Amino acid sequence: MNSVLVLIGFFLFLFLIEALFPLRTRTRALVHRLITNLCVSIFAFAVAACIVRPVGLSLAAWTAAKPFGLLHLVALPAAVQFGLAFLLMDLTFYYWHLANHRIPVLWRFHNVHHIDPDLDVSTALRFHVVEVLLSTGFRVVQVGLIGLSPLTYMIYESVFQASTLFQHSNVRLPLRAERLLNTVLVTPRMHGIHHSVVENETNSNYSTVFSWWDRLHRSLHLDIPQSTLVIGIPAYREPVDNTLWNVLALPFRTQRAYWYWPDGSRPTRDTTATRAHRTRMME
Ligand SMILES: [Zn+2]
Repeated sequence: MNSVLVLIGFFLFLFLIEALFPLRTRTRALVHRLITNLCVSIFAFAVAACIVRPVGLSLAAWTAAKPFGLLHLVALPAAVQFGLAFLLMDLTFYYWHLANHRIPVLWRFHNVHHIDPDLDVSTALRFHVVEVLLSTGFRVVQVGLIGLSPLTYMIYESVFQASTLFQHSNVRLPLRAERLLNTVLVTPRMHGIHHSVVENETNSNYSTVFSWWDRLHRSLHLDIPQSTLVIGIPAYREPVDNTLWNVLALPFRTQRAYWYWPDGSRPTRDTTATRAHRTRMME
């Protein structure tokens, strides 16, 4: 319960800071989006609290008691075991996020998160309830394979949630400070590019806590100035697409050609950037 209060406090803190020092200019009324995002999040939160977390925790307790999982193959000092568990949780979540973009049925639900036409800390709460439910299956595989302790699970989960709030926030950090922070963590400019209307920009920057996984898998994309970003999914950027009912019903409807504007054109960006260039964060 305490960790929930800390996360609520962190949410309010980021909400205040992004109002004072915004990174990107809003394109829609905040109140409408807030209502939609908070309502969507109520269902997601209920499933996360009542299903995902208890399943993850009891499985972690089972693997520790058995013992079962990768971390129990060799005897390791507790600190090393904790560090490895933390890294493996974050790396495997990179693959789950990638799967949510690559597998059409998963993308239907994850798209609900991506069609938000602006990006701020409230987007961090906006996940379709079915996406959260499906992630229970992933958690079972993840926790079962790794075999981490319930305490490590709880610590990772809290850091994961705080990181999700931070990277979606519209907080403008000084560029030099963000570049430094980004050598380790996923930051708002980095994750902003993951919400671009340009397909190959959305299909990059999948990491959640550590930015290293994108560096490792060559999916890092940083050289897009935030002022040139258009946020959302081109086929779903009309105000009517973002009403509460349409957001919840979206995955069950015939899907549009996601990456095309309603007029049939496709957002692209002229870039001849080399890979070295792509990993240089811009203002
Ligand atoms: Zn995504």
